Amino acid sequence: MNKTESNRLQKVEESSTLAMAALAREYRSKGVDVISLSLGEPDFKTPTHICDGAKEAIDSGNYFSYPPVAGYSDLREEISRKFIEENKLKYDPSQIIVSNGVKHSITNVMFSILNKGDEVIVFSPFWVSYSAIITLAEGVPIYINTSISNDFKPSEDQLKSAITKKTKAIIFSSPCNPTGTVFSREDLNKYRDILADYPDIVIISDEIYEHINFTNEHCSFGSLDGMSDRTITMNGFSKAFAMTGWRLGYIGAPKEIAKSINKMQGQTTSANCSIAQRAGYAALRAGNECAIEMKNSYLKRRDLVFDKLNKISKLKVNLPEGAFYFFPEIDNIIGKKDKKGVEIKSSNDLAMYLLEDAKISLVPGEDFGAPNCIRLSYAASESDLIEACKRMNRSIQKLN
Ligand code: PMP
Ligand code: GLU
Repeated sequence: MNKTESNRLQKVEESSTLAMAALAREYRSKGVDVISLSLGEPDFKTPTHICDGAKEAIDSGNYFSYPPVAGYSDLREEISRKFIEENKLKYDPSQIIVSNGVKHSITNVMFSILNKGDEVIVFSPFWVSYSAIITLAEGVPIYINTSISNDFKPSEDQLKSAITKKTKAIIFSSPCNPTGTVFSREDLNKYRDILADYPDIVIISDEIYEHINFTNEHCSFGSLDGMSDRTITMNGFSKAFAMTGWRLGYIGAPKEIAKSINKMQGQTTSANCSIAQRAGYAALRAGNECAIEMKNSYLKRRDLVFDKLNKISKLKVNLPEGAFYFFPEIDNIIGKKDKKGVEIKSSNDLAMYLLEDAKISLVPGEDFGAPNCIRLSYAASESDLIEACKRMNRSIQKLN
């Protein structure tokens, strides 16, 4: 136990996505040939025209001072334009705040709107950091559990019964990390119809995987009838433009909430890195062609991995419609033993077994709210994916 750590921080665990990635790196540094499919991170380089935006900003000498708290005005104008043109979302530039990645945007939002004990409905499986951030902000995550059999989509009854007098907000991602589920306009309209009766609930729509969507539509919750004044839309550059290291995300928020978040950000980080913002500006100005190219490559890999995983008889797999993850169910593996007689009791045990035996790194389902699933990121080269699936199959078949 860490005696100096605050009670608040002790309530949350280390991020398991980052922890598994760190473990894979550690194994590799010792010379073990681990294929890491744990971190959800594009394996592409940031496109050149975006890097040029950053280089020009440095060379100009004009971007070395503190930027405005919410981000440069031309960047916020560009985001506002993107929201209108691509998502039918009307956020004035004053309602947009640029932050240090969407993880930071979520932190800003939760700390700005939650009081102790406020409930936040979370569609589960969920991205690991949602629950941790809500908990750190002294809110209470209320999970709506779903499974592969319903494509990881909550029913209307589930949503209705999760709402209480303490519900402050609801958060979900579409396309979803970790399931790859895309919520269609029809799905979202069903939720909208329920939420229309609860005008005080804020909807937090995490759309960071917007451009990695294999269906023919990305629907933004805030564009649905009556939802624009109560939806916070999150988006960022990490996934669409392969810019995870630049740490650049943004939100569009209702006016009052945007003001609070501005206050929060001004007192904590001052603003986001000036040079990263110029790169983001270059990305938006140039359009989505590079994002579409990367998406097409993910689609090819999705189909490849789907075919391979389907052949591993003990896994139950669905076809994800977006993001770059598979989240197979592992019920048929739990309770099996390895050749030393050690039982696989959990997804965590399976992840450790696969790391040791198959030398592949995945993320256990526990921290995504689904202990009977395991996450595999297919943002890796085709040859690594083929080899990883082969090793995974071999190791799983050895279990008895
Ligand atoms: N939301 C979801 C659903 C994610 O998977 C991630 C992972 N990167 C984030 C937010 C945060 O992304 P970033 O901080 O890199 O913008
Ligand atoms: N979002 C990615 C993931 O889920 C990156 C790691 C993280 O930020 O948690 O793996």
